[in-house]
Amino acid sequence: MTDLIAELTEKLSAGAVVTGADVAARATSYWDASPMKARAILRPANTGEVSIILTLCNERGQKVVTHGGLTGCVQGASSGDDDFVLSMERMTAVEDIDTVSHTLTVQAGAVLETVQNAVRDQRMFLPLDLGARGSCTIGGNLATNAGGINVIRYGMARALVLGLEAVLPDGTVLSSMNKMLKNNAGFDLKQLFIGTEGTLGVITRAVLRLQPQSTTKNTALAALSDFSDVPKLLNHLKGSVGASLSAFEAMWGNYVRAVTEPGWHTAPMDRSHPYYILFECDGSDPVRDDDRFMEVVEQAFDEGLIVDAVLPKSEAERQALWAIRDDFEAVLSPKPVFLYDVSLPITSMEAYVADVQALLKERLPNSDLFTLGHVGDGNIHFFVRANTEATDARSLSDCSIYEPLVKYSGSVSAEHGIGFEKKKWLAQSRSAAEIAVMRKLKATFDPNRTLNPGVVID
Ligand SMILES: Cc1cc2nc3c(=O)[nH]c(=O)nc-3n(C[C@H](O)[C@H](O)[C@H](O)COP(=O)(O)OP(=O)(O)OC[C@H]3O[C@@H](n4cnc5c(N)ncnc54)[C@H](O)[C@@H]3O)c2cc1C
Repeated sequence: MTDLIAELTEKLSAGAVVTGADVAARATSYWDASPMKARAILRPANTGEVSIILTLCNERGQKVVTHGGLTGCVQGASSGDDDFVLSMERMTAVEDIDTVSHTLTVQAGAVLETVQNAVRDQRMFLPLDLGARGSCTIGGNLATNAGGINVIRYGMARALVLGLEAVLPDGTVLSSMNKMLKNNAGFDLKQLFIGTEGTLGVITRAVLRLQPQSTTKNTALAALSDFSDVPKLLNHLKGSVGASLSAFEAMWGNYVRAVTEPGWHTAPMDRSHPYYILFECDGSDPVRDDDRFMEVVEQAFDEGLIVDAVLPKSEAERQALWAIRDDFEAVLSPKPVFLYDVSLPITSMEAYVADVQALLKERLPNSDLFTLGHVGDGNIHFFVRANTEATDARSLSDCSIYEPLVKYSGSVSAEHGIGFEKKKWLAQSRSAAEIAVMRKLKATFDPNRTLNPGVVID
C-alpha cells in the first residue's frame, strides 16, 4: 500500500495526500473527538482527481471511505486503520448562481452555510437547512438525502436536485449536470447517488434548485397542554397560511427544560408546559403577512390549541428561539447518550412515545428520554441519556426505540440514513425484496466492494 500512496502522491496535486500524525491529529467526527483512523487521507482538488483515486484504489482492492463534514449521525463515514479516506474538503467552489433560472452549481465539498450565504447575497434562497449547517457539506447532504427544518414546505434534499456529477467506484465520471426542471430522457441516474450514503459513487458536483428570497418571516414559539392539539395546530396553520408554513418543530417539555437550565439558553416563557412548537412562515406580502400571522396565532389561542406563545421582535430574538431547538448540547452529558431518528404518522406519535417511555422505564430505569423533531414531517428525534455504564445499555435502548415502531408502521430512519449503526434494523423498514435489489445495485456498481463497504448493507 505504500506503493499506492507513493503513486497517488505523484499523480495528485500538491497537498492531496495526508498521512501519519496528520491523520490522527484530526477528530473522528462531530460526535467523536477521538483521533481519526485511516492509512491516508486523500484530498482531491477536482473531479479528475477523484477519478484517479477511485480508479487506482479499485484496481488494488483498496477500501475508500468518503468524508464530507463528518456530522452524519449513523457512522456512515467510519474509517478503520487500513482505509483510505477521500475527503471532499478541497472541492468547495460555488461555481454558479443563476438568478434567472434559479439554479446553483456547486462542488460537493462546499459547506452548507457558506452556500446558503453565497445564495443569499444574490437575493436567492436555498431551501435546505439543518442544525449542522456550519459543518455539513452539500455532498454529505445529498448522499444522506438530508431533511432538516424546511422539509414541510420544500421537501428533502432529493427534491432540490436538478443535476449531479458522481464518480463511480471504478473511476468512471458520470455527469448529469442537468439544469432543467423537466428531463425525462431515459433513466434519472442521479437518484442512484442521493440517499445511498456514498455506497454507489462519490458525488462531486450538483445543480440545485433555488427559490426567490422571501420578504417576510414570522416566527412563534407556542406552548401546548395536550399532544392531541399538535396535529390540530398543524392543520390550523396549513389551512390558514397554506404553503408559507416553512417550519413546524416540536419539543417535548423536558427537552426545553434541559436546554434552558441555568448556564444554557434563556427560557422565553414558562418552562413547565408539556409541549412546545416552534413554527415559521416565509411570505412575500410585507403589507399583510405580519397581521395575518398574528391573526392566525390569536385564532389558535381562541380555539384552545395553544396556551401561550412568544413572537420574536427582532432577528436576535428569533435566533434565540431557534437556538433552543438546534442546540442540544445540554442533553449530551453525562455520556453515554444515544440519538435516534424515526418517522411515523403524526396521529400515532403520542401512543408511540408512551410505548418507548414504558419500555425504557423497564429496561433502563434511570434513563432520561428527550424528545423533539420535525413533527410536521412525521419525524421524531430522541436523545436517550442512559445514566448507566452497563455494556448492554445501547442495545436495550435501541430495542426500546425500534421495536414499538412496528405496530405504527414507522421507519427506523427518517432522515439520518442507515450507515453502520442501523444496519441491524434495516429489515424492519424495508422488505427482503427491497434489500436484495439494494445488494444487486451495490454488486453492479462496486463489485470489488471498495467504496464505503459495509455501509447500509453488507
Ligand atoms: C447538530 C446537527 C444537526 C443535524 N440536523 C439534521 C437534520 O435536521 N436533518 C438531517 O437530515 N440530518 C441532520 N444531521 C445529520 C447530518 O448533518 C446530515 O446527515 C448531513 O447531511 C451529513 O453531511 P456531512 O457533509 O457531514 O456528511 P458526512 O457525515 O461526512 O457523511 C455522511 C455520509 O455521506 C457520505 N458522503 C459524504 N460526502 C459524500 C460525497 N461527496 N459523495 C458521496 N458520499 C458522501 C459519507 O461517506 C457518509 O456515508 C444533523 C447533525 C448534527 C451534528
